[in-house]
Amino acid sequence: MQLSALVDWVHRYKDAVVARKDELTDLDRQIGDADHGFNMARGMQAASDKLDAAVPGTVGELGKSVGMTLVSTVGGASGPLYGTFFLRFGTAAGAATELDAAGLAAAFRAGVEGIVGRGKAEPGDKTMLDALIPATEALEAAAAAGEPAELALDAAAEAAENGSQATFDLVARKGRASYLGERSAGHLDPGSVSSAILVRTLADAAKG
Ligand code: ADP
Ligand code: MG
Repeated sequence: MQLSALVDWVHRYKDAVVARKDELTDLDRQIGDADHGFNMARGMQAASDKLDAAVPGTVGELGKSVGMTLVSTVGGASGPLYGTFFLRFGTAAGAATELDAAGLAAAFRAGVEGIVGRGKAEPGDKTMLDALIPATEALEAAAAAGEPAELALDAAAEAAENGSQATFDLVARKGRASYLGERSAGHLDPGSVSSAILVRTLADAAKG
């Protein structure tokens, strides 16, 4: 996947979270504070604008630009978490201007480890990680099997969507939703939905 396609990913993700802003906010209204769509739309709009203003020359620069923008423009928990994802994704890719399936898997793994390090959530805690960890595992498995990036990312996107759906029954143990205890069950985790969109837009961008 070329750097230009990864830049396209960021713009596609911005378009998707802007289009689905109300849906994400409604999910957060049920078990949080009704700002997830607003946070994501605002942060990704700023990240997308910044990429237009200063075109990155490497995947490392791309990750740094998006990550720093999200950390500095989004007030909620999701800003620093997604910001860390992009910062670590970029650091792992470094001076690369192209990533194959294995390179994408390694960068994705580094990004997800960054979220784990920052938020200390575990699988099953009803967070964005319940979409991102299965996605990373699917991506790694497909890359190890020698699949091309486009197919590997399709598998990752499907795993993220399934993981997000599975948050419905879970009781939240991290973030605002955890204040609800058992009452958080019976709702999708909003961050898992925005994470499934993150992976799906990456798969779409890889196809051009
Ligand atoms: P806030 O919770 O500060 O209002 P958002 O509403 O934008 O921020 O984001 C909420 C989402 O952040 C949750 O749905 C969950 O997926 C994710 N989240 C919250 N805390 C954590 C954590 N410690 N680790 C991973 N993800 C988390
Ligand atoms: Mg919120």
